[in-house]
Parts: sequence; structure tokens; C-alpha cells
Amino acid sequence: MYRKQRLVLAGASVIFFILYVIALFIAPDVVSDSLSGCCGLTAALSVGLTSFINKKYRVPISIIALGPVFWVCGDIFYVLCDTGVITEEHLFAITDPMYRMTTYTYCIGLLVFGFVQFTKRDLLRLFVNAFLSSIATAIISVALFQLSTNTKISSYDFGFVYYFRMVVAMFIIVFFLVIATNHTDNKLSLYGLFVLASFFIYGVSDIRYTMLEAAGEDPSGIMFDAIYLSSMVLLGIAYATSSIEDVMETQDRRSTDRSGASGILLTVMILLFGVWLCMTGALSILGFLMLMISGVAYLLLLKLLKKNDANENIIAKKEEELSEVNEKLANASVLDIQTGLRNRRAWNLYRDELKETQKDSRLILYSLDINFFKMINDTYGTSVADQLLAEIGRRLLSIEEMGITAFRLDGDQFMILCVDEGHEVDSARFADYLIGVLDRPYETKEKVIRITFSIGAAMYPDDTPEIDRLMSCAESVRTSSNPNGNASTCAFFDASIIPKIQRENLIENLLQNLDYEEALELFYQPQVNTQTGELIGMEALLRWKDEDLGYIPPSEFIPIAENMGIMPAMGEWIVHHAFMQIIEWNQKFNRDLKMSINISPKQLQEEYFTETFFYIMKEMDVNPAWIDVEVTESIALNNIVLNTSIISNLRETGLSVSVDDFGTGYAAFANMLTFKFDRIKLAKELIDSLTIHTNAKIIVEAIVNMAKGMHLITIAEGVEEKEQLDILKELDCDQIQGFYFGKPIPAKDFEEKWLKS
Ligand code: C2E
Ligand code: MG
Ligand code: MG
Repeated sequence: MYRKQRLVLAGASVIFFILYVIALFIAPDVVSDSLSGCCGLTAALSVGLTSFINKKYRVPISIIALGPVFWVCGDIFYVLCDTGVITEEHLFAITDPMYRMTTYTYCIGLLVFGFVQFTKRDLLRLFVNAFLSSIATAIISVALFQLSTNTKISSYDFGFVYYFRMVVAMFIIVFFLVIATNHTDNKLSLYGLFVLASFFIYGVSDIRYTMLEAAGEDPSGIMFDAIYLSSMVLLGIAYATSSIEDVMETQDRRSTDRSGASGILLTVMILLFGVWLCMTGALSILGFLMLMISGVAYLLLLKLLKKNDANENIIAKKEEELSEVNEKLANASVLDIQTGLRNRRAWNLYRDELKETQKDSRLILYSLDINFFKMINDTYGTSVADQLLAEIGRRLLSIEEMGITAFRLDGDQFMILCVDEGHEVDSARFADYLIGVLDRPYETKEKVIRITFSIGAAMYPDDTPEIDRLMSCAESVRTSSNPNGNASTCAFFDASIIPKIQRENLIENLLQNLDYEEALELFYQPQVNTQTGELIGMEALLRWKDEDLGYIPPSEFIPIAENMGIMPAMGEWIVHHAFMQIIEWNQKFNRDLKMSINISPKQLQEEYFTETFFYIMKEMDVNPAWIDVEVTESIALNNIVLNTSIISNLRETGLSVSVDDFGTGYAAFANMLTFKFDRIKLAKELIDSLTIHTNAKIIVEAIVNMAKGMHLITIAEGVEEKEQLDILKELDCDQIQGFYFGKPIPAKDFEEKWLKS
């Protein structure tokens, strides 16, 4: 910015300077004076323009630019007096202070720069350092001047004024030198070199000028003018050629090494030198005293600085430690220690950021959940589960290179966010890739585990215009898909599932405050002997009738209750009532009927499930032979170790266990060997196919035969037609349950229909 203009101005000042030098030899005073004015002004403008490009240093640069302006004013005034335009003699005296203003402006400019650039403490240190050094140098140079030129500096009365002027001139050089050497890497930039050269030429000639004046000589003349002007030209060039970074962007290196010993040695040597100069008569008593005072002050300052340095170092170290701790804390607050992934808090922050920055991007959010994680935790222990989580974290972090961000929200819930700026990511392909990465077996120290994931995905803005709702959309589609968790799946949000989600939310709200005694009821469906049609038992099936929604099927509300974590309580109610009913019926009718009670996969995983179950059995003193527990096939096969132990625990009490819905899942007969079951319930789907596909008959026959070989009872469920019954009779299936014999009905009706007759 303004670089071209600045270069033109600096170039013009160089040309004016050359013309000025030529004019000195050939042209009259007025021409050369005008040219010097133009030269100073163009240099000043070059500096001044730089202040526009650097906001931070605008004030100090502007003040420095005023230096040549004052000099030009002095020039103009001089010409006016010289040419007789100004005749009042007392006004002539203004010229000199006007020239002097240049020195003071430079000095003020540098001080203001110091204020902007350094901390107060450092500025004071630099200032005192530069000031005392300037005093010493000025005094010694006066002495050396007198010694070398054999001239005597003016009387003591004017001594202070001259010394003051010399100290200020010296201060400009020293202070800038200190500032410039404090620059990063200790290297002086080109800009620094030019400015230093300018201030050096200016300062030295000003000192010399003052000395000559003090010695009673008239120093004014073309020589000094030319030198002063050259310093201004250099200043103009310095600012014109500098980039913004060069312009004053020095770095405050607080830990500037101030080796105390060399400082003391140098000061002592200067003082000794001063004593010698005084003895030779070159240094006046006043000068000598000033030198001594500044020397002692400098020594005291060194001592103070040393002490300060020690304190500063301690503070700096503490500050460093503090910032390290702060950084760790900040990281800890957004990172999950176990997996190294970002946590929920990080997601909240990230989401807010996305709302601001990614309005136009497509966001794809995948919500992940490990299937049966609790069961893994219970079966293999927390150490294995922790290793598993850490490995999941590593795998997800490894794919972050693809531009996605992974989070662990809580427990076994993860989330992946893909910011698709170009709307070009194939979300389904990425889901497949993700499943591929996560489905690989997990090697822990103890064993190799296979796990599956339920994934739900939702997109912004396609599925929801609110980034805030993206997560709940992905979660809802995740929970309403993959009900059995046998394999990893990814379901995508679809607006058509909104009513389903709304109903789920409604059911969840209703379940929250449900009075079981009032709203729940157990219906009973008969189970009969295939050959004789004789009642052998019944299955307890839960019913919930809501005033507004009517009957809500158990297949709908039980998964919701499981997710809400209220299934243990509800399960307890079911078991209690089913026990009560079978005790009542068997005692009342002197029968040995079996009550089948469904236990859902999640129920089986609940902590204290078996304890509670056994407790109720004991409390109610129920005959175990009257109880049958139905577990679904998927759960039976899902966690071999855990379920084998739970199931064998249950069977040890004398009750029987049935595998529900056999034939719908991934049942492998080989796996069935691991379990000790009592009964296989052939799924309704198989029975439905019996009369349609001949293959179904073959399968059912095989199952029945296999079960017989393993001494297992077979029961067919969902039998609705006589035809089905006939086939099952033919295949020698032991028991039948289905609408053909009877639908699930309330206890009172069941008693009427099945027990009283
Ligand atoms: P399930 O254990 O396989 O129960 C059999 C389901 O098939 C019952 O549905 C029953 O009414 C139905 N059914 C029986 N025979 C026939 C038939 O001939 N034709 C037709 N179309 N259906 C027949 P329901 O009562 O709606 O129960 C559905 C599922 O809900 C059950 O499947 C079970 O998994 C679950 N459930 C029911 N009650 C409970 C309970 O108390 N606890 C648990 N954990 N789950 C339960
Ligand atoms: Mg059942
Ligand atoms: Mg069933």
C-alpha cells in the first residue's frame, strides 16, 4: 500500500538532494535553500505515508515524520529572514529552535514507539539504560573534542543547555540502536540499517554542531546543512523501501541478556577514563560530576536489574507453567481420555462454530453405538471394554485424515461429522467404509473380540435445516433401526420416519409416568400338545392399553422401555404377576401347567437380572417346574460366554428355557450345542411358509428331528390353520401355540375358556 508513492517521494528527495548539492556550488542561497526544503519535505512525506499502512505504529511514525518538517520550516524561516522578507530582528531567533525541534521530535517519536512496542517495565529499563549511556557518551565526547581540538567549551553557565542538547542527540542514536537490536533474531533489517544510519549521521552532526556552538564558534554553514539533509534523505528511503513487517515490527525479547559483569566493567572503565580526562583538564568539573553520577546510577541500575531479572525469570517460568497447565486443562475439557477423541463438550463448541462458518456446506453426521456393549463389559470385564474403546478411538482417529471429525459422546456412543463443502461426498459409500474399518476384529490383551455397530446418519440441510437437530435426527434413525444388533448397519434419516419418531417420543413420555398396576395387563395364550390338543401351559404376553392410543403392541413399547432403562422395573412387574397367576391356577385347578415368560435381550443383560428373578421366585415360593423362560435366538447366540452362564444358572433352579423365534435369525445348529435349552419355539415365519414352500417343510422337519436328537421339545408358534397343524402333527412337532387354538386373552377369560372346563 502506498509503496509506489513512497518510492516516488523517496526518489524525489534523492534527486532534490543531488540538485541541492549542485546548487551549493553554482546557484545563489535562495535556490539551494528552496531545494533543501523540497528535499526535506519529500523525505518527510515518504515517512508520513508509511504511517497509513501501519495502524499500530501510526502515531510514532507520524511524529518521526514531523522531524524533517520542522527542519524545512527552519529553512523557510531562514530564507525569509535572509531575503529580508522578515525584518524584525527578534524573530530571527526563532530559526534556531525550529531546527532544534527536529531532534526533539525524533526523540519523542522514538519514546512513543517504545510505549507502543514494549511493556512499561521494559521500556523504563531501556530508557534508563539509553539515557545514562547517552549522558556518559556525550560528556566523554565533549572532553575528547576539547582534547583533540584544543578548544575550550563555553562557560559553566551554559554547560547544562549544551549537555542537554548533546544528550538528546546521543539518546536518539542509542535508543534506536537498543530498539533495533532487540529485533527478532538480533538481525538488523535493511530498514533498521537505514534509519540507524540516518539517526547516526543526524545525531553525530548535531553533537558536533552543539560542541562548536558551545566552543563559541559559528557552526552554521553548508557542510552541516548538507549532512543534516542527507540524514533525512536516508530516513525517507528507509521508510519507502520497508515492508509493513519491517516497519517497527520488532519483538520484545524480555529475556535480553544483560551480563552484569561486563556492564560493571565497562562502566568502571568509563569512570576511570573520565577521571583521567578530568586530570588532563579536558573534562570540566561539571562534566566530571555528571559523568560520575550517571556512572554510579548506572551501576545501581545494573544491580537492580539483576535482582529484577531473577524475579522476572521466576515469574516467566511460573507464567510458562501456568499456561502449560491451562493448555492441558483446555485440552482435557474437550478431549476424552480413554479414546483420545473429542468429547461432547467439544461437539457443542464445534457445532456452534459450524453454525457460524459452514452455513453453505453439507454436513453429514453419523451416530454410532456399539451393539450389546454392556454385555461385553459384564462378560469380559472393564479392562477389555476399555481396550476396545481405545482401539475404536485409534481407528476413528486414523480416518480423520479423510477430513472427518470423530467424537465420543458417552459410554459406547460415538459420532462422526463430515463437513462436505463441495456437496460431493457419497454418504452411503462412506458408511460402508466406516463399517469396514470398525467391523475388523478387536485384539485385546486377553482375547480377540468381534463387535457390531448400529449407525444412524443424518444430513444438513437435506434432512433438517437446523444444525442443532442433526444429532437427534441421526440418533433417532439409529435407534429405530437394527433392532437385533447381529450385524453392523447404517440407516439414513428419512423424513417419512418422523411420524414414527414422534410416536416413539409420545410413548416414551407416557412410559415415564406409567402406573403399571393400572395400565399394564398380562394376556395369556394357550400352548397345547400337538397330538392330543391338551393344554400344557400358556405364554404370558404383556398388554398396555392407553386411554388415547388404545392398545400399544409390546413389540413397539418394549424396545423403547429398554432404551429408557425402565425394563428392569417393568420386567419385575411381569415376572411377579406371571408367577402369581401360575401359582393361583395350578393350585386352584390342581394342575402342573407351565407359564412361559418372555425375557428380552436387554433384560437379560441388566445388572441383577438373575438376582431379582431368583429373589421373586423365592419370595413367592413358586415351583420352578411351572416356569419357562423364553429368550430370543439372537441373544442366545450373541454372547456365548455370558448367556451360557445366565441360562445355566436359570436352569439349575429347575425351570425350563425356550429359544424363542427359532429360525428367523442366524441360528446355527452348531452353536446350539453350546447351550443347554429345553425347548425350541419354531418362529411364526417358518410356520407361515409350511403350506406355501415345500422347502419350509423340509427345514421344519430337520429342526424337529435335530431337536429330538438333542432331547429338546419343539413348539410351533403362530399356527393359524388346520393345514399347518396337520403338517406339524405329521412332522411330530411336540407342541402348538397359535390363533388356531386360541389368541392371547385376559386371565379371567383364559380361566373360563381353558381351565374351568
Ligand atoms: P413372542 O414372544 O414371539 O410372542 C408371540 C407373538 O406372536 C405374540 O404377539 C402373539 O400374540 C403372537 N401370536 C401368537 N400366535 C399367533 C398367531 O397364530 N398368529 C399371529 N398373527 N400372531 C400370533 P405379541 O403379544 O404382540 O408380542 C410380540 C412380542 O413382544 C413377543 O413375541 C415378545 O417378543 C414381546 N413380548 C410380549 N410380551 C412380553 C413380555 O412380557 N416381556 C418381554 N420381554 N417381551 C414381551
Ligand atoms: Mg415369546
Ligand atoms: Mg415368538
